[in-house]
Amino acid sequence: MNKILEDIRTAVPALSQQVYGKPLVYLDNAATSQKPVQVIELVNMMNSGLNGNVHRAMHYLSEQATMLYEQARERVRQHINAPERENIIFTSGATAAINLVASSFCYRFLKNGDSVVIAGDSHHSNIVPWQIACERAGAKLKVVPVDENGRLEIERVDSLVDARTRLVAVTHISNVLGIVNDIGQITEMAHARGAKVLVDGAQGIVHAKVDVQDMDCDFYAFSGHKVYGETGSGVLYGKSDLLNQMPPYMGGGEMVETVTYEKTTYAPLPLKFEAGTPNFIAAASLAPALDFADALVSGEWGRAVKEEEAAILAYLPDALREIEGLTLYGTSGKKIPLFSFSVDGCNSSDIAQMLDKLGIAVRSGQMCSEPLMNRYGVTGMVRASFAPYNTLEEAVYLADSLKRVVKMLR
Ligand code: PMP
Repeated sequence: MNKILEDIRTAVPALSQQVYGKPLVYLDNAATSQKPVQVIELVNMMNSGLNGNVHRAMHYLSEQATMLYEQARERVRQHINAPERENIIFTSGATAAINLVASSFCYRFLKNGDSVVIAGDSHHSNIVPWQIACERAGAKLKVVPVDENGRLEIERVDSLVDARTRLVAVTHISNVLGIVNDIGQITEMAHARGAKVLVDGAQGIVHAKVDVQDMDCDFYAFSGHKVYGETGSGVLYGKSDLLNQMPPYMGGGEMVETVTYEKTTYAPLPLKFEAGTPNFIAAASLAPALDFADALVSGEWGRAVKEEEAAILAYLPDALREIEGLTLYGTSGKKIPLFSFSVDGCNSSDIAQMLDKLGIAVRSGQMCSEPLMNRYGVTGMVRASFAPYNTLEEAVYLADSLKRVVKMLR
């Protein structure tokens, strides 16, 4: 293995473990990533020493925890090029961020007879909240279809979005197809009709450069745990004018200015949307997590990762297709190293279970995208999702192991 990749892997302790006596080959990164040392150390340090509730007390521990929490907000702002700190709302994850918009934005702006347009490659988190909002408002939910090769039919946005469309909710990168969608183009088309745009960036934040001002999206949602941060953290980026017009999502401590029984006034952004004690340790972990994400695309680490990723992308699709009856999904356009497939005559969960015994962690089933499974006429798929710390060697081991597993299952 390349010496630089070895260094990267050493920085992520979970990767060097064995499962069932075999070296772990972790290929379920789209579900959650493994954490680098600096994230683990920050979380341990806060839990063992700097545990004080944020924004509340005058004492040292609270001040230190608040400082780390707010520094992480600034780190996120910088990472996605948001104009101000107030544009960054901490949530418990991408799901919570999308639900915040579906509840609060839709309460304010979505009326009877309006519509919301969503992408056909969406995760359930970017389907169900809009369904609930549309049902409440008496609005219509429309879907941009995906073609046979997994390409989102962006040209259809023009006919689906009309003057009554309030919001277009799209996936930056699908968790099933691994295709990078052209967000700039979608945003332009939606804005031309007066609709706002939310981007589900749960996978995008990991594999693409995110510049929210360049994309000109109105909202961008992601989870911390997929981008090397602690579980229970997430971010909603929103444009200030919209966030200011939206009512609070939850009421409680720290989101208020003054409270009387007659009337409450709300705290300014971003705290208006952060009621209650946030998961401040997880949120603070986003600072070292994003430092790690940046290191993976910079300097000699960046060059080594890019080369290895290109080698995996060049090798694995053909190696997988050598297996008779295997169908690979999401084959068009710009791809991240994420490979979803089904194999004729084999159940996806059986494949995943047998790979597990060989030390390989993959995902199987519907992958929280049941409508997409229906689109391709399958009940489930197997997904191998690579992170920058994965290697070509692991891809070769996956392909070889899969050949053995399929033989045994048939
Ligand atoms: N959207 C996409 C594209 C995802 O991949 C996921 C996680 N699989 C989510 C949303 C939801 O993320 P979370 O469960 O962390 O809220």
